[in-house]
Amino acid sequence: QSKNSGRNTWHVFRPGMNAEVERRREIEVELKQALDRHEFELYLQPRIDPATGSVSSHEALIRWHNPARGFVNPGDFIPVAEASGTIIPIGEWVFREACRLLSTELPGQRVSVNVSPVQFRHPGFLDALGEIVHRSGVHPDQIELEITESVLIDDDRRAQQILRSLKRMGFGVALDDFGTGYSSLSYLSRYPFDTIKLDRRFVANLGVVNSAEVIVRSIIDLGRGLGMKVVAEGVETIDEAIFLSASGCNELQGFLFGRPQPLSQVQRWCDPMLMSEMRRRLLQADAD
Ligand code: C2E
Ligand code: MG
Ligand code: MG
Ligand code: MG
Repeated sequence: QSKNSGRNTWHVFRPGMNAEVERRREIEVELKQALDRHEFELYLQPRIDPATGSVSSHEALIRWHNPARGFVNPGDFIPVAEASGTIIPIGEWVFREACRLLSTELPGQRVSVNVSPVQFRHPGFLDALGEIVHRSGVHPDQIELEITESVLIDDDRRAQQILRSLKRMGFGVALDDFGTGYSSLSYLSRYPFDTIKLDRRFVANLGVVNSAEVIVRSIIDLGRGLGMKVVAEGVETIDEAIFLSASGCNELQGFLFGRPQPLSQVQRWCDPMLMSEMRRRLLQADAD
């Protein structure tokens, strides 16, 4: 009986596997055409300074509208683009588009751009960024590049050089999804990051997992103690926002303040009602 079901599982499982491989292969082919067909769009999500309630910056997040598949999540196509190398032209498009938005619709503002580890290690990376930003007339300090920890594991030396070059060129650099990888605390002093982005899993644990408050507070203290800005990702509730802000977090990002949205819907200030409620609760927390 158990042997049989084991066998059945194998037979049922296998076509599924093939379908998944097939799907990835199709996505790979379609991704190659997607740029020419203008199927990508950059959405923007605000980063809020809780002290003023103003939008300090926006994170650029790519969206793919495929005519046949509809809306495809970055989580479903970025890995395919990375495996096939298409991430290089796609990443350049993202950067060019971010510069275009900054030079036309968001003058003087700031945007952060995600950089895939594959892009980061690609030999033409620095030259491509330099040329695009130069042509756009945007000042590099209006752009922060978000890089995940996985970039740093392999070859220290090279990663360090690239990060230093980016800094020399005038870009800001942020360590994205901090705390999710094999993050070693020594990374923080070894690499020249301006910002760390506290992964949203830590934020989601606030009020749920006992140790979460202590861990989050320690990361914020550590980052700030090393002179970095600390940004929290995935802030969904006002309680999370209050705690993070009272703990010294410099900026907050999450659905509470705004979802990623097309440029036409971008607002420069966040909901005044929400901000006054936050201020009231922070004062109250201070008094207690
Ligand atoms: P990320 O860089 O950590 O981006 C933040 C992700 O969290 C975004 O997912 C955003 O929509 C989501 N998010 C923001 N606030 C909340 C919240 O309050 N709750 C929850 N549950 N989620 C929230 P998205 O847009 O689906 O992107 C997923 C990942 O795909 C990104 O993670 C990034 O690693 C990658 N990605 C997105 N755009 C690009 C791009 O242009 N280039 C590259 N290389 N990667 C990108
Ligand atoms: Mg990011
Ligand atoms: Mg990222
Ligand atoms: Mg992140």
